[in-house]
Amino acid sequence: MSAKRGTWPGSVSAPLGSPIQPSVVYKSAGPNTLDDIYEGREAGFTYAREGHPNAAVVAGRIAEMEGAAAGLMTGSGMAAVGAVLMGLLRAGDHVVAGDQLYGRSLRLMADDLPRFGVGVTLANACDAAAVAAAMTPATRLILIETVSNPTIRIADLDGIAALARDAGALLVVDNTFTTPRAVQPLARGADIVVHSVTKLLAGHSDATLGWVGTKTPDLMAEIERFAVTMGLTASPFDCWLAERGLMTFDLRYDRAEANAAGLAAALSGLEGVKQVLYPTDPAHPDRALAAALLGNRGSHMVSFVIDGGRPEAERLVNAVAGDIAFAPTLGDIATTLSHPASSSHRALSTDAQAAIGISEGFFRVSVGCEPLDHIAEVLTRGVAAAYSPVSD
Ligand SMILES: *Cc1c(COP(=O)(O)O)cnc(C)c1O
Repeated sequence: MSAKRGTWPGSVSAPLGSPIQPSVVYKSAGPNTLDDIYEGREAGFTYAREGHPNAAVVAGRIAEMEGAAAGLMTGSGMAAVGAVLMGLLRAGDHVVAGDQLYGRSLRLMADDLPRFGVGVTLANACDAAAVAAAMTPATRLILIETVSNPTIRIADLDGIAALARDAGALLVVDNTFTTPRAVQPLARGADIVVHSVTKLLAGHSDATLGWVGTKTPDLMAEIERFAVTMGLTASPFDCWLAERGLMTFDLRYDRAEANAAGLAAALSGLEGVKQVLYPTDPAHPDRALAAALLGNRGSHMVSFVIDGGRPEAERLVNAVAGDIAFAPTLGDIATTLSHPASSSHRALSTDAQAAIGISEGFFRVSVGCEPLDHIAEVLTRGVAAAYSPVSD
C-alpha cells in the first residue's frame, strides 16, 4: 500500500455549491504560519475540533440572521446550551431559568448544574415579576425560551431583558421555536442566543446541530474555548447539510407559519377540541406578550387539547398515521405530531403535567410545508376518529 495521497486537481473555475471539507487536520508551512493562524493574523484552520470551513460558513450565516457579533456551530442544540452554561458559570453562581424549558435543558438545571455548585431557581418566564422574585445577588445568568414547548406560552423577553440589564446578569435566549425570522433576541437586550439547528433552521431531520451567537466577541471566546476543549463542536457533513437547508429556510418558515395559522383556525371549530394554542389567536392566554414579541408572526407550532384520555389519544394518532408521522421532534419539512404526556413530559406526574396544562388529550403539531387543506383534512379526520371506537 502507498500512504501517498492523490493530488487535488487545480481548476480555474470554482464550485457553485459549497464543498464538504472532512479533513481532521490541516497542514501548514511551519511554526511561524501556525503562530499567525493561532494569533489571528492569518485566516486558517488547524484541527477540525477547533473549527473547519463548513462550520464557519453556517455559523456566519446564522450570525447574520440573528445579528450576532460571533457565532459557533455545536454538535447539537444541547451542546450549545451546555457550552454556554459550562463555559461561563462557576461554582457559587446562581441561574434563573424558565420553568417550561426544553426537557433536557431542565435536566441540566435540575441534575447537573447543582453538581458543579451552581444554584438554580426556575420561574415562569411569561411573568417578569416572577423572574425578578427568583433572582439573588449571585444571579449571573438567566435562560429562557421565546415560546414554551409544548404549551406555546410566550416569554416576557423585554421585561426580563430589563431585569438582566439592571442586575448585570447575562440573558440567554433559546430561539429555536421562533427563529430570527420572528424575533431577534440580541436586538432586544439578550446577550447570547442559542438554537437547535436540528429543527427549523436545517429543516430536514437529517442533521443534529446547534448554534451559539453572542452580542460581543469576548463572550464568544469563553464559550468557544470550553466547546473546543470538551469537543462540543460540529461535524463538517452536518454543517454542509445545514447550509443547504438554510438556503430555503425563509420559504419553509413562511409556508409552515401560514399553514399553522390556518390549522389553528380549522381545529378551533371542531367538536371535541377543547383548546387550541397558537400565538396569533385572539384567545391565546399571552396574546399581548405575543403581539409585543412576535408582531403578527406565530411560527409553526400549534398545540391542541381534545376531550378524553389515552384511548381517544391513541385513536387520533392511529387515524392520521398514514399521513402525519407521530414523532417527538419539530421543524421537519413535513408535519409531525407529538403527544407530550407519553413522550417529552412523561417523567412528570399527572399533577405536574396538569399544572402546566398537559393531559392525555394534549397534542402538539409541528406544522410542515404540505398543502394546508391536506393537513387540516387529516387532523380533522383524526379528531373525529378519536370519538369513534372501531370494532375489529
Ligand atoms: C430540540 C431542542 C433543543 C435541543 O436540541 P438538540 O439539537 O436536539 O440537541 C433545545 N431547545 C429547544 C427549544 C429544542 O426544541
